[in-house]
Amino acid sequence: MKCLFCRIVEGEIPSTKVYEDERVLAFRDIDPQAPTHILIIPKVHYDCAADAPAELVGHMAAAAAKIAEAEGIAADGYRMVINTGEAGGQSVKHLHLHLLGGRSMQWPPG
Ligand code: AMP
Repeated sequence: MKCLFCRIVEGEIPSTKVYEDERVLAFRDIDPQAPTHILIIPKVHYDCAADAPAELVGHMAAAAAKIAEAEGIAADGYRMVINTGEAGGQSVKHLHLHLLGGRSMQWPPG
């Protein structure tokens, strides 16, 4: 069975798209943890970053930086997160990068 994010890539499940190129799709998180909370995902399925080409993970980060500029959160700063595996808090097993901004982030994260 196709995973949730593969179904979003294919348009079977709606999303609020903010950016797309030939390799990645970015859309707003359905349960935002910050005023700006966007997920950047590869269009091709990989379970996690370790399975994906390093260059693709870099492309996702570069896309997130562009989106941060477009969203107006770059000047104040933002956070990029890739949760990995159960203990890492990954609930959707399709590689995704969280872009969070618009408020101060605590460190260490909870
Ligand atoms: P993670 O816990 O790192 O796997 O993150 C998965 C994220 O996907 C969570 O922040 C969810 O709120 C988000 N999410 C789940 N379903 C959807 C959906 N249909 N559209 C947008 N975001 C979603």
